[in-house]
Amino acid sequence: MNYKYSFLSKSGIALYNNCLKSENGGCPFAFKMKYILDIPPSQSKSSNKGSALHELFDKFFDMVKIDDGELYFPFVVDDNLKKDFNIFLSYETDRFEYLKSIERLDVYQPVVRERMFNNNRLGIHGIVDRIDKTSEDKYILYDYKSGVYEHQNKWGLRNELAFYHLCVGSEYDLIEWRGLLTAKGYMYKTIPNEKVLDKVSELVDDTWSNIKMGKFEMTKNKMSCSYCGWKYKCPRWSIQIS
Ligand code: SF4
Repeated sequence: MNYKYSFLSKSGIALYNNCLKSENGGCPFAFKMKYILDIPPSQSKSSNKGSALHELFDKFFDMVKIDDGELYFPFVVDDNLKKDFNIFLSYETDRFEYLKSIERLDVYQPVVRERMFNNNRLGIHGIVDRIDKTSEDKYILYDYKSGVYEHQNKWGLRNELAFYHLCVGSEYDLIEWRGLLTAKGYMYKTIPNEKVLDKVSELVDDTWSNIKMGKFEMTKNKMSCSYCGWKYKCPRWSIQIS
């Protein structure tokens, strides 16, 4: 395997949780723990917070009302999530004001929220956080990030967005990738990059080849382990603890 690309993204392993049918690279050993040994993942504090934020952002779009050209959101936010939510809200308010100014509030609601997409050719699938339609009737792919790690690793986030792009395929004509890093109050934006898409496809193919040959090596990149649900059952880490 070409380990240069063995680390798809910080949540390469989180995607294992979501990818019930197949894997997206990262760590073949995690694949073995999940699908062959049938070991359930542990929930960490950060993954619980991430799930709560995803639910909150989704609830926002169910509850938000546009009345008389103003935005209303009639619900209370848990204190633990307020900081991240306020960053999201500030971004949404700016987006609302912009669309109002150009009279395109019809595209305010995302066209996709928390939806599973499949790419049968590559043998991958993933839950896409969100796709927006732009005022020019094109599409933007989003990923929400509540951890701090991604801020230092745009490369990993970009690859993760590429992975989701590959899952979406041609259903939406994506013209931009965005990662909303709520812990840092930062929006990472980039345009889809063919070279990155090719590299991620190559990684997926490599990982599948290894799995099919029964090679379940641990990823060489320990950063992948940060968010792995199997970390506390993995020999790499249990050896260090004992
Ligand atoms: S902790 Fe690291 S090496 Fe172990 S299964 Fe998870 S990603 Fe792989």
